Amino acid sequence: DPSLHTHLADETDTLALGAALAPAMAAGLVIYLQGDLGAGKTTLVRGLLRGLGHTGSVKSPTYTLIEPYVVSRLDLYHFDFYRFTSPEEFLDAGLEEYFSAQGVCLVEWPQKAEPYVSPADIEIRLAIDGDGREALIRPLTDTGRQCAIKIAK
Ligand code: ADP
Ligand code: MG
Repeated sequence: DPSLHTHLADETDTLALGAALAPAMAAGLVIYLQGDLGAGKTTLVRGLLRGLGHTGSVKSPTYTLIEPYVVSRLDLYHFDFYRFTSPEEFLDAGLEEYFSAQGVCLVEWPQKAEPYVSPADIEIRLAIDGDGREALIRPLTDTGRQCAIKIAK
């Protein structure tokens, strides 16, 4: 099982882990980013996008719900459902169409959009660990396992 468990001592480590995910990205992949506020979810996405070659800014989608990117011949959609007061807001915003498209969906606070949000191929859990963070990456589907073996070591 290609699960990965690692300690991230500082923000640079979180960015590096995100960049290590870049070679594993493939069309249609759904990745859940789990963890409390401030756990480093958006930082990880920033590292991933930088790893794919994105040079522009990477903003938290907390207020916009979605930030789209086109980089390295991939469409990536970064979501944050933290502010949802009901999961139906997912439907009201018409977000299913992003999940049926051939993009990579990176989702913060997916549990706030259940049961409407598509299930994850890979789950990444971040937790505060001393001054740093703990990261656990777990593939949940065959597609996820195919991708996880391509994570750069
Ligand atoms: P989230 O999206 O989970 O709410 P952010 O990515 O916005 O969290 O990060 C919150 C803060 O945590 C930022 O100030 C970031 O620099 C910091 N951070 C990220 N990774 C680490 C780490 N491994 N150790 C310490 N601080 C970190
Ligand atoms: Mg965030």
